[in-house]
Amino acid sequence: MAFPLLFLLFCTFCSSPSAIYSTFIPYNTSASVVSGKINVHFVPHSHDDVGWLKTVDQYYFGGNNSIRGACVQNVLDSVMSSLFEDKNRKFIYVEMAFFQRWWRQQSSGMKERVKGLVNSGQLEFINGGMCMHDEATPHYIDLIDQTTLGHKFIKDEFGQIPRVGWQIDPFGHSAVQAYLLGAEFGFDSLFFARIDYQDRAKRLQDKTLEVVWRGSQSLGSTSQIFTGIFPRHYDPPDGFTFEINDVSPPIQDDVLLFDYNVQERVSDFVAAALAQANVTRTNHIMWLMGTDFRYQYANSWYRQMDKFIHYVNQDGRVNVLYSTPSMYTDAKHAANEEWPLKTGDFFPYADHQNAYWTGYFTSRPAFKGFVRTMSGYYLAARQLEFFRGRSGVASKLGVLADALAIAQHHDAVSGTQRQHVAADYALRISIGYKEAEKLVASSLGFLTESRSSTRQGSISTELEQCPLLNISYCPPTESISSDEQSLVVVAYNPLGWKREEVIRIPVSSENVEVRDSNGIQIESQLVPLLNATSRVRTIYAKAYTGHFPSEMPKYWLAFSASLPPLGFNTYFVSVANQTGSSSILSLVHTAENTKARTVEVGPGNLKLRFSVDSGELTHFINGRSLVATSVEQSYGYYTGNDGTNKDPQASGAYVFRPNGTFTVKNLGQVPSTFLRGPLLDEVHQQLNPWISQVTRVYKGKEHAEIEFVIGPIPLDDGTGKEITTQIKTTMKTNKTFYTDSNGRDFIKRVRDQRTDWDLEVNQPVAGNYYPVNLGIYVEDDTTELSVLVDRSVGGSSLVDGQIELMLHRRMLHDDMRGVGEVLNEIVCVLDECEGLTIVGKMFLRVDQLGEGAKWRRTVGQEIYSPVLVAFTKQDASKWMESHVNSFSGVDPSYSLPNNVAVITLQELKVGEVLLRLAHLYEIGEDKDYSGMARVELKMLFPNKKIGKVTELSLSANQKRSELEKRRLVWKVAAKEEESKVVRGGAVDPDNLVVELAPMEIRTFFLNFDSPQIYVS
Ligand SMILES: [Zn+2]
Repeated sequence: MAFPLLFLLFCTFCSSPSAIYSTFIPYNTSASVVSGKINVHFVPHSHDDVGWLKTVDQYYFGGNNSIRGACVQNVLDSVMSSLFEDKNRKFIYVEMAFFQRWWRQQSSGMKERVKGLVNSGQLEFINGGMCMHDEATPHYIDLIDQTTLGHKFIKDEFGQIPRVGWQIDPFGHSAVQAYLLGAEFGFDSLFFARIDYQDRAKRLQDKTLEVVWRGSQSLGSTSQIFTGIFPRHYDPPDGFTFEINDVSPPIQDDVLLFDYNVQERVSDFVAAALAQANVTRTNHIMWLMGTDFRYQYANSWYRQMDKFIHYVNQDGRVNVLYSTPSMYTDAKHAANEEWPLKTGDFFPYADHQNAYWTGYFTSRPAFKGFVRTMSGYYLAARQLEFFRGRSGVASKLGVLADALAIAQHHDAVSGTQRQHVAADYALRISIGYKEAEKLVASSLGFLTESRSSTRQGSISTELEQCPLLNISYCPPTESISSDEQSLVVVAYNPLGWKREEVIRIPVSSENVEVRDSNGIQIESQLVPLLNATSRVRTIYAKAYTGHFPSEMPKYWLAFSASLPPLGFNTYFVSVANQTGSSSILSLVHTAENTKARTVEVGPGNLKLRFSVDSGELTHFINGRSLVATSVEQSYGYYTGNDGTNKDPQASGAYVFRPNGTFTVKNLGQVPSTFLRGPLLDEVHQQLNPWISQVTRVYKGKEHAEIEFVIGPIPLDDGTGKEITTQIKTTMKTNKTFYTDSNGRDFIKRVRDQRTDWDLEVNQPVAGNYYPVNLGIYVEDDTTELSVLVDRSVGGSSLVDGQIELMLHRRMLHDDMRGVGEVLNEIVCVLDECEGLTIVGKMFLRVDQLGEGAKWRRTVGQEIYSPVLVAFTKQDASKWMESHVNSFSGVDPSYSLPNNVAVITLQELKVGEVLLRLAHLYEIGEDKDYSGMARVELKMLFPNKKIGKVTELSLSANQKRSELEKRRLVWKVAAKEEESKVVRGGAVDPDNLVVELAPMEIRTFFLNFDSPQIYVS
């Protein structure tokens, strides 16, 4: 039966119909776009996770293949061979962390040939960051930094500027990705796969998978980007996958062999193309030829694509070509179509009615905290490296920069990797930290010593830092003895404005005093260290340092430091030798020995009232702003679904699927303890055996700082748990709350609603969770309630007037999204293992309506950039005489405006600096600060002569003016006319003032004439 058909096929495809022979077939792969036909753009790609089931290095060299046969080295080796074979073939590469590993080991001859591929457009770098970053849990500064690093590599080695954003795998998409990490990089388009299944269904129907996305309300159309969402996922249509072990039928076109199938496969191809064209505007559709870790034997793909291009184009019903996302974008642009407008973002992401990927907003909270802490530290370290001057020496921050860059990967800071991979990321960051710590110490040492201009040779001052200060472990401060030596505390402020901050250090003696840099004694307070923290201190100090810490210090010594912009001040802690001069000991009492029903704390304007019976916060009262409102704070947890019911979806590393809600009842077994003093009051609460917290109210601050210790989360009842805190008020918030996008713009959320479609609510809790990086707030007619966080977490407002944050998770089941491991973090010290305990902070404040933004933006920046403290011991008066005690990198009369932050200050080489300035407010966010801000560069660099100022794109790989010239203009179907968007003007070379409009970030390359080492 098959024979006549075969014969028919011979006639169609053989050059000589009368003969049956097999010979070389010169496939014609040279197709380009054909107008009037459906064009299928083949985009060959490999999605290479920079760590997930295996570490980044294991994926690269093919180690640990029993977990998964994946070797990126194979991908790159074999792709290059295939590209050399046929100049029409194309490939895109995305992850520079892998490409750099490969590039380092190539011969110069190979490098030349690969440069040829890049120059001809056969090999194109897209996205081009070190990794394909997550979009929910990283901070925008980290995202800029990680992309800058990758783009610099591409520019330096290949002279290329990536044109396309390629975020194909991240689990939901942020507004900041669209406007900041897309349009502001100069990308012409952005592509991805994962959006909510309900949203996708509607977009397939409406043909609105491709849109113009305006991610920023403030920057509007000046920062919009053409965005394509794939109809299904980032793999080819069914039946067109060609890795060696794949089951799709290859084209068999050798007439002497059985199973000849050219016509059949061509028809399959045309059918799949027409189906996709049906849901896509214009005649252009993209086929993603590849998926995770494909092209390890590239020819198995290219052989088939060559044949499809040859035979399908012979058939002629549709046209298919080797392409790239840039070529596809140009084709879309040339079609001159009007595109639907998208605003807001694509969170949360659900791939199924009970599968909301909102658990990973909180997964691995300790790692998320570590990444955030190191991010702020890296920013400060670059500043200090600049102030010291590298003098041509290579930067000591490269290891930390690399480690932080790959930690932004969508299976890194997201918390969705295997345990050994999480450990690998953390190890890389801590190695980077060690290098950075030395640099910070030597820079601060240099700056404190630079008073003597005749100083020569090495720096003699050895300053120590205490990365475990958060668990009260700090050897240099714990041992202030009665000899001549004082503890010298150098406190550095990485912000561009002045700052008052209470510094707390652990001390063992109660007979200490604090002096400022003029030798004048200042007020200080001793706060007893209570037992709740001692366990964490012992276990985690051992886990980090390898040895058990010395005996627990008795007190936190607190004093208020007054710090200049981008500068430091010095304080001296010594044994008090006169009676009455010693630090003030806090008054301590417990709720047990009071008769009152309520206790009020707070030495300044802010008072918090606590109920003696429940032990809980009840009221927030600000004597200055006249806010007085009831606020309750409590803890609870969800038990995770175990996946055994009829819809088998468990809660896991990605997915949050609660199965029950429980309140943590403070049974009053451990009564609250109140500590009071002149600088701060504290309320210590043990909520249950594994949750405790300290609420602090500082004299000079109008917010409450809540430090929580959570863990080990018990699993002995057989259920995984996701621990939350709730802050409740009586505010009428009408289902509405606001969460930030990567720490930048705030986006309006309405419970049980989406802006782009009518939401069918299946998961009323998980489906209302959003990522929180900076903070979350609610407001009503009179008041705003805001909570800021010290790391990324998931959050929501599940009832009016309430805010909920998920702080920790420990699970018993995998959620079947590929990681194949249960999220159950364990810490082992010696032979003892237990679940992870976390220590973190949140910050709470109630404002009159319209006043909250000022606090969120200023304190938000202070949380990101905490005061950096370093210590040494020396005779205080000798130090004061011989050292620089106070330093500011900016002119003494100057400080940055309150709405601007320096987010990058980095010496690239001698006399060349990269500077990024960020406006911190959105349009209309604050009555005073949402206007144009101005920064005077001459005042910012008082001891330098600024030669040339060049404005660059956000990733610093091209001139801003060239980016604007190249930018594609898209027609948008907008319902309303946009009001005029404001941006800062060009920088005048004489007055050197930088204007910043709301939400604008401007990046500059500065040349200094006759660079000089700073002398105070
Ligand atoms: Zn991935």
